[in-house]
Amino acid sequence: AAGAREIASLTPMMRQYMEVKALHPDSLLFFRLGDFYEMFFEDAVKASEILQITLTARAKGADKVPMCGVPYHAARRYIGRLVSEGLKVAICEQVEEPGSGPGIVRREVTRVITPGMVLDEEVLEPQASNFLAAVCWNDKGWGAALLEASTGEFLALEAPGIAELAEALSRVEPRELLVADGKRDAPEVTQLCARLVRAPAVAEGEAASFEPTRAAGFLRSHFAVQSLSAFGLEDAPLAAGAAGAALRYLKDTQKTAAAHVDRLSRQERGGSLLMDESSRANLEVLRSLRDGGRKGSLLGVLDKTVTSLGARKLARWLASPLGSLPEIHARLDAVEELSGRSVWREELAGILKEVGDLERLCGRLSLGAGNARDLRALGLSLAQLPRVVAVLARCESPLLKSLTGPLGALPELAALLARAVADEPPVTLKEGGMIRAGFHAELDKLVALSTSGKDLLLQIEQREKERTGISSLKVRYNKVFGYYLEVTKSNLDRVPRDYIRKQTTVNAERFVTPELKEYEEQVLTAEERRCALELQLFEELRTQVVAAAPRIRSAAEAVATGDALLSFARCAAEYGYTRPEVDASEALSITGGRHPVVERMLGASDSFVPNDVRLDPSEDAQLLVITGPNMAGKSTVMRQVALTALMAQAGSFVPAKAARIGLCDRIFTRVGAADNLARGQSTFMVEMTETSHILHHATRKSLIILDEIGRGTSTFDGLSIAWAVAEHLHDTVGARALFATHYHELVDLARERPRVKNLCIAVKEQNGKVIFLRKLVPGGASRSYGIEVAKLAGLPPEVVGRARELLQNLESGELDDAGRPRVAVRQPQGGRRGPSSGQLGLFGAEPAAPSQGPGVTPGQQKALEAL
Ligand code: ADP
Repeated sequence: AAGAREIASLTPMMRQYMEVKALHPDSLLFFRLGDFYEMFFEDAVKASEILQITLTARAKGADKVPMCGVPYHAARRYIGRLVSEGLKVAICEQVEEPGSGPGIVRREVTRVITPGMVLDEEVLEPQASNFLAAVCWNDKGWGAALLEASTGEFLALEAPGIAELAEALSRVEPRELLVADGKRDAPEVTQLCARLVRAPAVAEGEAASFEPTRAAGFLRSHFAVQSLSAFGLEDAPLAAGAAGAALRYLKDTQKTAAAHVDRLSRQERGGSLLMDESSRANLEVLRSLRDGGRKGSLLGVLDKTVTSLGARKLARWLASPLGSLPEIHARLDAVEELSGRSVWREELAGILKEVGDLERLCGRLSLGAGNARDLRALGLSLAQLPRVVAVLARCESPLLKSLTGPLGALPELAALLARAVADEPPVTLKEGGMIRAGFHAELDKLVALSTSGKDLLLQIEQREKERTGISSLKVRYNKVFGYYLEVTKSNLDRVPRDYIRKQTTVNAERFVTPELKEYEEQVLTAEERRCALELQLFEELRTQVVAAAPRIRSAAEAVATGDALLSFARCAAEYGYTRPEVDASEALSITGGRHPVVERMLGASDSFVPNDVRLDPSEDAQLLVITGPNMAGKSTVMRQVALTALMAQAGSFVPAKAARIGLCDRIFTRVGAADNLARGQSTFMVEMTETSHILHHATRKSLIILDEIGRGTSTFDGLSIAWAVAEHLHDTVGARALFATHYHELVDLARERPRVKNLCIAVKEQNGKVIFLRKLVPGGASRSYGIEVAKLAGLPPEVVGRARELLQNLESGELDDAGRPRVAVRQPQGGRRGPSSGQLGLFGAEPAAPSQGPGVTPGQQKALEAL
């Protein structure tokens, strides 16, 4: 029947749909119809494809309108799916009761969910932050604001160029980029997105909201401050513009006052260890290169947090390690203390497990979006905090001790919520059941009345039966008369005088009594009054929470910090890490170092071969040239040095027997180019762009990892570039650098430059097979064993044989008339060019190393014997 009614009202309803849709052209419109959200036209086509739901059609005159729908109670899951595809979803609700006004029900968009504006716990990833980044630019530079709608975290920054901006953004991996109207396809936006490892969805906001003066006014009134100097933004118009636009976007999409966004901080560059986005990606700090997941990343190995607050904090610490010694030492002290106390660790983990996502609970409630379940979860979490305090109060570490203050600041709220909120409140706010019995006397009375009302009516029925002797007398109810007594025609003579006749039916007459009316009044309204009172009490509790929001957020921050430190301590204890010595020197010396992730993947903990690396620019070791065959472990050892420095500066213990890390200001890496291919630049171009970025930005305090520079071009070009880059790093930049190369010629650089050292990764040749020893030893590799490795990789025997033959000719150093190494020329098949026509250069650069012997120099032989 409802369907028929709807079809009758199709035209006005579709008109209403069109009007709403016109206001939200870039969102999928979820249009509430009874128990469903329906989508029409292109929205329906797109959504049905992504959500794998049936596309149907609705007749509209002669045309058919494509449509699909999802039940409203399951909508969150579908919305989550659409948002994760980078789409926006506008929720259009019925904003009045059906039948309460003339014509069709009024509908309005109540909020818009976008990739960067998600509040719903079912859509949010608990362990990951969900940032919106608003950006703007002019010829002087860039401004950006980072806003986490679910927690209220709000940061603003300015950057001189796109590289610095991308670096700042990539630390939080924003899900959505907000730019001014008409800028979506601007080249600046395209370039920025290409630099971010996880490309965000791009949305446009009103251009005027980015305008600095206007934005500043808007921010001042939101935060109720006189000037933006409180946030350090008075001289940062671009940052202020971006911040204004971001906040405006939150308010507009969520239709909220955004009370939980109660601070804005300026993010300064410096103060932390900088890492550009490709270095962070290459080192697989937050996600693996293989599939972009946490597994196989540094975070995946180090995350032993038990709360989502802690998980997000740890990710932040690793994405943005510290640059100041006191802060690093404070964390290391805390980790040291907890790593030595297994009982405390267990205890702390057990308690913290019970602590929910305080930040997001508080955010939801502040936005007016939460329900009584959120209050309950908040209450249970707050109730754990004194237990956390009890453990932390025993600690010596000043950082751990300092957490007890904010954790102990909410006992009244915890007690209030414990007393007020029911154990298992419903999701909705309108049907009661939220408030605990005993909390409010009036409410208790109403509850008793509405639940015991039925009993009372039965009592009345029983009494009236006895009084009148009419055994068939019944108390009944209908919508028109309410409660009444029904007496069959045959018993009418026994009806007492005080009965008031209301209605006559075929077989019976219906009466009421004053007593019945009075009860009816109370029972019927009790339920209604109960629900209203509960809603009111809920709102009061929510107000209390909002008033305590700054303290809740400080407590959340303390939980996050404690949990992240605990995670470091658990790793230290379980993986056998040691405390690094971090100081202001320029040294970097690691004894018995391991790669934190490769070590875990190898399983049995002793199968990873530890290595020593010593850099000290003030003495003789500033640039290490590392040679060795492919697969020997060059990248692994270089990455492990970078990761060890990074971990130390994040405040973690490190996978080594001992480590001394002179504070780094930046870590640069230039390794493998596979991930860049998708971005449409040639490998060589990417490599050179990144190398030039490093040479321009590195300082004496930087740590640089260069893997196989100059690979993407001809050998002579490549070698020349690699050589020149190494010289420049040594002579001009002065940074600590590790340089892996297959150009053995680079080994000669050590003879010319005082602070260049050669290392190679030892291999052994046994019965024509290479055995990788994984051991870093002094000296240069004399052979590359490329053919042996190729054989291991399954190259056909005839190809391997032919390669050996060619190599022998090359190595015997026979020169042709032009003075180039002679190559045994084979008849080329199918008229292909012979090696003499240009390919010779490729071979010409191979070193004329002796082909005899196991390929180990006397110095290396000694080192190997020591293994
Ligand atoms: P290269 O850069 O020299 O080509 P990789 O660093 O990629 O070599 O190392 C190849 C593989 O060797 C790694 O995937 C790892 O499994 C293994 N490996 C490297 N170093 C070690 C080590 N120290 N101990 C054990 N296995 C290692």
